[in-house]
Amino acid sequence: MSWSITPLNLGWLRHRPKEAITFQHGKGEFVDLACFAWLLRDGERTILVDLGPESTEHAARVHKVALEKTPEHDLVDLLSAHGVDANALTDVILTHLHWDHIGGLPLLPAATFLVQDIELRYGVYPPAFDHRVYEFTTGAPFLPFIRRMKIVSGRHEIAPGLTAILTPGHSPGHQSLLVEGKDVTYLLAGDYIDLDENWDKRIPSGPTPDVEAWHRTYDELAKLNVVMLPGHDGRVLEREVYD
Ligand SMILES: [Zn+2]
Repeated sequence: MSWSITPLNLGWLRHRPKEAITFQHGKGEFVDLACFAWLLRDGERTILVDLGPESTEHAARVHKVALEKTPEHDLVDLLSAHGVDANALTDVILTHLHWDHIGGLPLLPAATFLVQDIELRYGVYPPAFDHRVYEFTTGAPFLPFIRRMKIVSGRHEIAPGLTAILTPGHSPGHQSLLVEGKDVTYLLAGDYIDLDENWDKRIPSGPTPDVEAWHRTYDELAKLNVVMLPGHDGRVLEREVYD
């Protein structure tokens, strides 16, 4: 049994300063960042990874960023187009609890949300420099869902061929997914790797509060034979399905 991965485009963060994504490299350049949910299927199970940002209005008001999120980026509609009923979906994995990965929480009434314990503890009470990305002072929107979270600690086999591993750096309890396809193993990197460039040139993806941890994680991942699927790189959409 192997998995297929379908990236669902939940919007675009437009015209972001590149230096914030590639750790001071590319000053004066701007990039568009795709936001994704990832639909994983193995013929029996259906699992969703990450939930994108909430709305254009929310992104502008709380984060002062331009988010292009039109009806074509609607999570419920995209799931439906792939034969998945959002009301019935039971299994979601969150790579981490930053605002642009949890916007769809209220849209999945039957789901449990798998998250790392370190990430939850950190996200509930982050240090001041991380208040904004966890929306600490503006409602911490993941808190109402805490009873539906499945909390794990470190490496965790979710199903045959699908394993969560801790990949700290971008956030302390960030997790990525090892996903076995037909002939290759994919790493759904989440924001540990925002763009291909972060991996190819070994440049921490921004923001990376713990650069040392990021490099330790890199050394571990470099030992693996995986195909990297970065968390915000629009080139991922060149293929409809990865299997
Ligand atoms: Zn993030």
